[in-house]
Amino acid sequence: MISEAYSSKKRITKTVPLQSDLVVVGGGLSGVCAAITAARSGLKVTLLQDRPVLGGNASSEVRLWSLGATSHMGNNNRWSREGGLINEILLENLKRNKEGNPLIFDTVLLEKVYEEKNITLLLNTAVYDVEKGEDNKVKTATAFCSQNSTTYVASAPLFCDASGDGIIAFMSGASFRMGAETKEEFDEGFAPNIKDYGNLLGHSLYFYTKDVGKPISYTAPSFAIKNAEELPRIKNFQLGDHGCKLWWVEHGGRLDTIHQSEDIKFELWKVVYGIWDYVKNSGKYPEAANLTLEWVGTIPGKRESRRFEGDFMLTQKDIVEQRDYYDAVSFGGWAMDLHPADGIYSKHNSCTQWHGKGVYSIPYRCYYSKNIDNLFLAGRIISASHVAFGSSRVMLTCAHGAQAVGEAAVICKEEGLLPRDIASKGNIGKLQLALNRNGQSIPRLSLQDIDDLAVKANIEASSTLAFSGFAATDDWQILKFGLAQMVPLKANETYSFEFEVDALEATNLELQLKSSSACTHFTPDVIIDKKEIDLQKGKQIITFTTTKTQAQDHYSFFCLMKNEKVKVRLSDERITGLMTVENKVNKAVSNFGRQDPPAEINVDSFEFWTPERRPKGKNIALKMTTPLLIFKVDNLKNGEVRPNSNGSTNAWVANIADKTPTLDLKWHDKVGIKTIKLFFDCDYDHALETTLMGHPEDIIPFVVADYKIKDGSGNIIKEVTGNYQAINTIELDQAISTDKLTFEFVKKEEHIPVSVFKISVYNQTL
Ligand SMILES: Cc1cc2nc3c(=O)[nH]c(=O)nc-3n(C[C@H](O)[C@H](O)[C@H](O)COP(=O)(O)OP(=O)(O)OC[C@H]3O[C@@H](n4cnc5c(N)ncnc54)[C@H](O)[C@@H]3O)c2cc1C
Repeated sequence: MISEAYSSKKRITKTVPLQSDLVVVGGGLSGVCAAITAARSGLKVTLLQDRPVLGGNASSEVRLWSLGATSHMGNNNRWSREGGLINEILLENLKRNKEGNPLIFDTVLLEKVYEEKNITLLLNTAVYDVEKGEDNKVKTATAFCSQNSTTYVASAPLFCDASGDGIIAFMSGASFRMGAETKEEFDEGFAPNIKDYGNLLGHSLYFYTKDVGKPISYTAPSFAIKNAEELPRIKNFQLGDHGCKLWWVEHGGRLDTIHQSEDIKFELWKVVYGIWDYVKNSGKYPEAANLTLEWVGTIPGKRESRRFEGDFMLTQKDIVEQRDYYDAVSFGGWAMDLHPADGIYSKHNSCTQWHGKGVYSIPYRCYYSKNIDNLFLAGRIISASHVAFGSSRVMLTCAHGAQAVGEAAVICKEEGLLPRDIASKGNIGKLQLALNRNGQSIPRLSLQDIDDLAVKANIEASSTLAFSGFAATDDWQILKFGLAQMVPLKANETYSFEFEVDALEATNLELQLKSSSACTHFTPDVIIDKKEIDLQKGKQIITFTTTKTQAQDHYSFFCLMKNEKVKVRLSDERITGLMTVENKVNKAVSNFGRQDPPAEINVDSFEFWTPERRPKGKNIALKMTTPLLIFKVDNLKNGEVRPNSNGSTNAWVANIADKTPTLDLKWHDKVGIKTIKLFFDCDYDHALETTLMGHPEDIIPFVVADYKIKDGSGNIIKEVTGNYQAINTIELDQAISTDKLTFEFVKKEEHIPVSVFKISVYNQTL
């Protein structure tokens, strides 16, 4: 028994000091990715999260689907899903949770953190104070856990603020902004008219509904609004919409989104229960009789508050022009997406989104405070203008950048540096290489990995696909929209394409060969050649031989323009780096076939050509008279792990008939081998929304599941079965010495040849 007598003095709660190499505040996707990345490279990390689960806005408490550059596959950013750790998390979630249950996503994240022995995770622990040293550094962050009544004082040489509102950045005195810049400050045409449109994006709160199979009544709480039918946005509501489809239930952009957050939440509860009252009791939704509320958010998703200043501030022009910087470490590709501050009460559209033509780079200098010497920034608080934040704020972009923070912390620790030191030209390459070794795919950055022994190997394959077309199947697609086959083509060469159509009546079909005006994107904004073909009624084979050529190597778009009287023959074959896109609409991301912004906002006009999700989105049964040598084994050594817009698939692909393809890596002399890394095709084009939205497969069908690795004497040094990850890192227990490695792969999909993007071999543990 514990019995304590009255004390006239104040009691203090239990206090626990924590010492680590890096303190990460905030357990959203950004904080989680920064913490795991650092921990995997040996840093001791304290991860402080004020809520009971990880994931921030992606958690089951808020239930947002995490998005990034793929933009629901609704813009022109091909193969742009974020790589590295966040991709590993997405593929794990896909394997276990392709239906998108937010509770399961919570466990995927928790498991990933739990498995890292270098992370001390404290849930329900809110940071509320900071101690700052005289050296302009954060010394400690103090947090309290209400569940165990314990105060934690976390010290470290490095801190990362991934808390959304920037609690430690704010308390330590870092310079920040909140609200929109003027158009003039960074020459941003899209900067909003603050009086009319507003200064800040608001919060949103969601609900889920459930059919209980019998009529169920509903009495709203007294605080629910009574006039939901007058909400300008109520016309958006469709029965069956729940979760993040209700993103437009937004409020608070005219308020202080930090200190009035609880007031904003209460207003959103009033609106949510009022909407449900209207649905159940207005008589306008008779089909809602059997529906009940299954879940209502208790924590609103917060879109915007403070943005902290780094040595560089990302702005509109960086996004629109896809500007590259020497210190690029991440990328974004979501539209610049602003919302009217009046949210659900606004007369404006619920959002205004303008896309760039391609993905843009994010410089490392956005990820640390320019004033506080040991403070990294991750998540929505990074150094970006309000307009650029409109794009960089989405969670996969946040998580991808946070990996750079975690990796930078590792270099800081190893070399006794501070965050800013890594931005120097001498150091940034180390960070970029470390990131790309783990699949970060920093855009348009070619790096030499001098430690990678595979680069020095002579590689031979059992077969290599020379692409001369896709085998025809008896599946036809009506050209309800323009349909394009994407193929990488060479500069200054002509090509001949053959395909079969079935015309419902005599008609005219327009063919175009399009390409992109720059190597920074996959937007088909240049017509290289075109032809009109008179079709007779019925089936016929068409050949289109180009006479004009493109000026540089590039992915090109062989387009069959819209004609609803024509069907084109498809193929069941799917091959790494080759795909079809259509000139169609995706209203969810403001894609109306093309975008034509007002001239004064300085955003490009262009068409959208976007893919369908499997099982749709088949390739055209196309034949090329000259085979394309686009899958050569040398691609395995070029450092890239996804196709890029300069016209390289970057993959080695075996013949489709080769059921057990092999690759031999041979060296002149014996080499010591400790680590082998393989990079498979996890279809970086497919958006892997984490919640609500299901996916067609639990394993990406291009990924090689089963393979063996043998040494020069034929000994099996590794056998893998059931792989579903993009990157396999094989650490051998003992280093081996050999002059040859043989990789034996097993083809698992009838219509998909085996492919590999990259193999790396090191004589050390990475
Ligand atoms: C309604 C809405 C719709 C959106 N739509 C999308 C979408 O569809 N897809 C998408 O990808 N993005 C979307 N976004 C944007 C995205 O959710 C945020 O920009 C993103 O979550 C920011 O990531 P973060 O890691 O900085 O913050 P968060 O995800 O908010 O994570 C911050 C974490 O820090 C914790 N924390 C805060 N203060 C403290 C403290 N003092 N101590 C300890 N921990 C603390 C929080 O609990 C939280 O877990 C949307 C945002 C909102 C609000």
